[in-house]
Amino acid sequence: MNDQCVFCKIINKQIPSNMVHEDEHVIVFADIAPQAPTHLLIVPKVHIPDLNELTEEHAFVLGHISMVAKELAARLGLAETGWRLVINCGADAGQTVFHLHVHLLGGRPLAGQMA
Ligand code: 5GP
Ligand code: ZN
Repeated sequence: MNDQCVFCKIINKQIPSNMVHEDEHVIVFADIAPQAPTHLLIVPKVHIPDLNELTEEHAFVLGHISMVAKELAARLGLAETGWRLVINCGADAGQTVFHLHVHLLGGRPLAGQMA
């Protein structure tokens, strides 16, 4: 828990969110400014500022996030049409919230622009 962190506050239910999944390791909620018909944020409960701060002990959580993403994509009907995971790290990537999170995007064609 980081007292200044908006995602820690969402995890601790101090700030409301449109939550679609929660388990021991992650919380998933809708992005407040969606960039696609489906735009979810998959957020580990442990406060890791960004990928630069990742250590071996976090490896399980990243694998778990992939499994949660796969299950949500199937539940939301995206498995057939396709979907994308994005992790921004640092200024050039446009990271604005420094609590590691994975964007799950889908519901429209995303091809043609990776960056
Ligand atoms: P980043 O640019 O750091 O990869 O992504 C941060 C994302 O968090 C942005 O897409 C932004 O819209 C979203 N976001 C920022 N603050 C909040 C919030 O308080 N609630 C929700 N649901 N999303 C937020
Ligand atoms: Zn945090």
